[in-house]
Amino acid sequence: MQCVVVGGSLVGLSAAIALSRLGIDVTVLERSPARTDDGGGGLGVDVALLGQVTGIAEQPPVVHGVDRDTTAWHLLQGWLEAQAVGRAGVALRRGTQVTSVSPGNEAEPAAVVTRDGGSYRADLVLGADGARSTVRQAVDPEHPGARYAGVLLWRSLVDERAMPAQVALPAAGEPSREVYAGPYRLVTYLVPGAAGETGVGHRRLNLVWYDPQQGELLRDRGLLEGETIHGSLAPGTLPDPVRECLAEFAAANWPSPWREALELALRDGKVFGTPIVHYKPNRMARDRAALAGDAAHAASPMVGGGFRQGLYDVGALTQVLTPITEAADIPAALGRYQALRLRPAAHHVAVSERATAAYLAHATQ
Ligand SMILES: Cc1cc2nc3c(=O)[nH]c(=O)nc-3n(C[C@H](O)[C@H](O)[C@H](O)COP(=O)(O)OP(=O)(O)OC[C@H]3O[C@@H](n4cnc5c(N)ncnc54)[C@H](O)[C@@H]3O)c2cc1C
Repeated sequence: MQCVVVGGSLVGLSAAIALSRLGIDVTVLERSPARTDDGGGGLGVDVALLGQVTGIAEQPPVVHGVDRDTTAWHLLQGWLEAQAVGRAGVALRRGTQVTSVSPGNEAEPAAVVTRDGGSYRADLVLGADGARSTVRQAVDPEHPGARYAGVLLWRSLVDERAMPAQVALPAAGEPSREVYAGPYRLVTYLVPGAAGETGVGHRRLNLVWYDPQQGELLRDRGLLEGETIHGSLAPGTLPDPVRECLAEFAAANWPSPWREALELALRDGKVFGTPIVHYKPNRMARDRAALAGDAAHAASPMVGGGFRQGLYDVGALTQVLTPITEAADIPAALGRYQALRLRPAAHHVAVSERATAAYLAHATQ
């Protein structure tokens, strides 16, 4: 059987590995032309769940905190990509943007069209193409769009080696912390260095600053239209007044060593902005197309576990596809996938919507 996975990030690659273990040939189509060595921020990862879902015994680079294991997106993505492309039956095509999908039916395969004029036929198409998913239009055309949640995250990773010598670095085992000041929330934890280093002095400080006041900036930049988000603020693109305002607030309110880390990141143009979006699914599958990860359920990191939910999706897909030998049985198997995952996924997003509303109510008092 042949599967096309749209999106070669954390969930798409985890799915490609898991499906290839069932003997399914998988082609992953990823629009980014190249891997990045430092893109994205940090995240917590359940290493045991990742191993269970993908069947990989080795661990990705993580810092072991007392409360959870943490990594950087680019390290985990790069590690999963190396694992996926090393498997027989998995092909990754980068620089390939999917523009439309038709979900097929019991008798007909699904079809995928790409921007460069390519087309693919597949027994199964999995949309792991993130919160602003294209595949969603094939799965649920009446409800295809994610909504801006009203919060922008200022994010950065700061190398401990770049920190001023007089600033005390966090000890090994430092837990994640959250601090509130004014309308803002700051979440901090450590992640491995750019090459996966985990020793004190060689890690990176990960900062996530929740800011509910940047709707206008997003609109001015053409990144927010109505409730629809079109992109994020890349490093180095913060307007000077915003940068100065953040630097002043950080210096006065955030604890050391995080305020010094932010000062460095703001000075060096290494802060980027990620708008939070919500997408609560009504469907996760149609005929031979299914959604997984943020494409299926986008929530705020305030409630945590977005990638964990994506791994649950991949685990459920594996479960329903394991007994399948005929491609004609895929629509029914995906119906079972939806029955397993729709309620927990929608619940996850509902919890996030409530938590975000409570935060916004407090922040705008
Ligand atoms: C600040 C922050 C902290 C977080 N912390 C945690 C945490 O501690 N624990 C946790 O479990 N989760 C966490 N998350 C959530 C987690 O990062 C996401 O749930 C997860 O990365 C989603 O992965 P994904 O593969 O579904 O989507 P994405 O990572 O968004 O990947 C989608 C991929 O699809 C590609 N793509 C998009 N459209 C197309 C197209 N048309 N054609 C081809 N390719 C396409 C994109 O280029 C991208 O590579 C956090 C998120 C944030 C923002």
